[in-house]
This record gives sequence, C-alpha cells and structure tokens, in this order.
Amino acid sequence: MFQLPRGTRDFKPADMQKYRYIQQQISEIFQRFGYEEVRTPTFETLDLFTAKSGESIKEELYDFTDKGGRKLTLRPELTAPVIRFYIDQLQMEPKPLKLYYIGNCFRYDRPQKGRYREFWQAGCELFGPNTPEAYAELIALAYTQLHSLGLNNITVNIGNLTIIDALFTQLNLTSEQKQYLPPLIDKVLYEDITHALQDFDVSQEHITRFINLLETTDIDHLSTHMKNHQEAREQLNLTKQVIELLHQNFQITTCQLKMSIVRGLEYYKGIVFEIEAPSLGAEKQLCGGGVYELISLFGGNDVPTAGFAIGMDRTILALETEGITFPNPEPEIYIIPVDQTTIPQSITIATMLRTHGYITDLDLLRRGVGKALKYANTKHYQYIIIIGPKELEQQAVTLRNMMTGEQTIVPYNDLLSKLE
Ligand code: AMP
Repeated sequence: MFQLPRGTRDFKPADMQKYRYIQQQISEIFQRFGYEEVRTPTFETLDLFTAKSGESIKEELYDFTDKGGRKLTLRPELTAPVIRFYIDQLQMEPKPLKLYYIGNCFRYDRPQKGRYREFWQAGCELFGPNTPEAYAELIALAYTQLHSLGLNNITVNIGNLTIIDALFTQLNLTSEQKQYLPPLIDKVLYEDITHALQDFDVSQEHITRFINLLETTDIDHLSTHMKNHQEAREQLNLTKQVIELLHQNFQITTCQLKMSIVRGLEYYKGIVFEIEAPSLGAEKQLCGGGVYELISLFGGNDVPTAGFAIGMDRTILALETEGITFPNPEPEIYIIPVDQTTIPQSITIATMLRTHGYITDLDLLRRGVGKALKYANTKHYQYIIIIGPKELEQQAVTLRNMMTGEQTIVPYNDLLSKLE
C-alpha cells in the first residue's frame, strides 16, 4: 500500500548488526587516534550549504520551508555543520582539536548500487595543524579504519589542488574554464579534457604535457614543471613528505600520488585524498577528504582544517564483495515455562539472567515445550531453560546445553556458576 521513498532502504536486524559492527570499529579507531565524538542536527539552514557551494547545490538537496517559514535542508554532508558548530562554540578549545561524527546524509542523487538518497557517513575534522605528519596521520587513520575492518583490496590516492591550479594557470585558463575541467579530470575522461582544452585554444603540445602530468606518479617529474610556482613547489614538497611518512612510518604501502583526485574543488585546497575499493566497480570510492578552507568563509577566525568522510554503506558493500563475514553474536538463553503455573518463576529467572548480562528470551506465546524448543533451535540459542511444576517444587531449572546436548537439573543458586 505504501512505497519506500526512492533511494532509501529498510534495514533488517542482520543489516543493523553490520552497521553497528562497523560503527563500533570505526569509532574505536577514531578514539585511538585522539578524536572525540560530536553530533549536529539532521537538518540545517539552507544557506549553510549554499554559502560554500552556490545556489546550484540546491539541485542535490532535500530542502524545505518549515511551518515558521524558515528555509531548511536535510544535511548532504557533515563538514559544513561541524564548522558552523566550531565557530559557534569551540573556537577557544586547545589545538589540535580532533572531532569525529557518524550520521545520516541526504542527497537528491540518481540512485544506483552504492549510491542512495539517504546514506551514512563516518567522518572527522582536524583543527590546528598543517604539518606533513598531521596530514599523513589523517590519511593513515582513514586507511586503518577500513583495513582493520578486513578490507585488504583498497588503494589510497593522494592529489593536490594547489598543483592542479598551477597547471591550469600554465594553460592560461580563465576562472570559468578552470571550473569546467575538474569533473572531467575526476572521471579521468582524457578525450573530453582534450576537446575542452582545444576549445579553450590550448596548443596540442600543452594539452599532451598537461595530461602527461595528470598521469604521473613521480613528484620529482612534476617538480621540474613547477619552477615558476613557489606555492605549488611547496605543496609538492609537502605531498612528498606525506607520502614518505605514510610509506615508511605509518607502513601504508598502498598509497600513491594521483593528480586526477580533484574532489569538486569547491573549498578544498592543497592535499586531497580518496580511498577506493576497486571491487565495487562504478561507485568504488569509500572515503574522500583533504585540506579545506571554510572557517573564514563562515566568518570564524581562520585555523588550518582538514578532514575526511567514509561512506558506511559502501564500506559494507565492499566487505560483502570481498566475502568478509561479520561477527554475529548468538542469542544465549531461551526460557520455556512448561505451563502457566511456572510463568512467574520463569520471568524471575529471566530478570536475574538479564541483570547479569545474559541475552535472555522467554517464550511469550504459551505454545508448549515442543514448539518452543523448535523455535529456540532455529534461532540458534545456546542454552535452553525449561521450568515445569517439578522444577518449581525443587527450586531448580532444567538446563539444556544446545551445543553438547547435555541436560541437567540445576538449583536456582547454582545457575549462574553453571552458566559461567
Ligand atoms: P563526499 O562527501 O561526496 O566526499 O562523500 C564521502 C563518501 O561518502 C564517499 O566516498 C562515499 O563513500 C559516500 N557517499 C557519498 N555520496 C553517497 C551516496 N549518495 N550514497 C552512498 N554513499 C555516498
């Protein structure tokens, strides 16, 4: 009768278990790297997102006017909200300030596998440092999170937007022309890039060199083409140090320079990175991040900022594609009252076991021992407790170990020690 809104999903208990598992792992590693959790609202004022991305971003937003006439939107990401929060309340916090978040995001995207209209991001923002070790640690953090979940087939690609900008400048592009190219570069559409540059009257020699430099993984080679660009040379040097630290000290060997990482260019500046799982095909990007400048745009006192966001939905898809099994906590104890006279005592025992931390369930259907046993079996309970008038009289329960088949009468007072 009612349809699920396009691009959204329902999550079965088994799906929720996967989300809960990766959320726990990711949170734990954020904390191990010194990050603290924050939360911001699911909706924000519309101008928070149009301020940085322009009116055209509205195409991608779930925006609405509330009953008070306020222009609001469901959040499409969490960096802008966290920066708003920082400027509001956290500017005086000692630096470096390391914040992380996990939350749902909404984008009016074209839905497909790995691309939804509601999806979940786990991300972080780093305020204060702009050293190579800070950026290397940030990238190492994202890699460690995905790797520790069991993803072995992932690659880390590191680019630099200051260098891309210097390459654009060498081609004498106008700012409008500069904005046209990044989406093509991001998708590595070299033919389209060539046509566009031809339209912009760039010589074939310069086009070939530009594409060649986009392709290179050799920083020293890029450096020889940046002689007149002081800032780009500094950024090249920084990028080189970050990659060296990642290779040699963080021991992440699967990271490499990839100049075609451009991340939309909106407010990113300097180092950017993406982590992908090639096994996922078209929507293979699991994580994106880098150095950005938003604080001054939002009216705060500028400090260096960098961050990233991991897509949790795609991370689960990648784990499933790689055939990694998720830990699945088994239900532990199922209590069966043999008849109505033993229901109160069954509840007392269930309460005692739950208080002691056991996952305990009780037959609520009054369906008799045979059917209840069958149910407990299909649900993979490890222990079954049967309480009948005989047990009640003896102040005991019948405890059946479903793994060994062993069945014994256990007095109430011995039940906990027996279970242990
Ligand atoms: P972005 O904020 O666009 O850099 O996205 C960060 C990460 O979020 C991406 O690497 C994806 O893993 C994930 N992501 C972005 N958009 C979607 C979407 N529509 N559906 C599912 N995951 C997404």
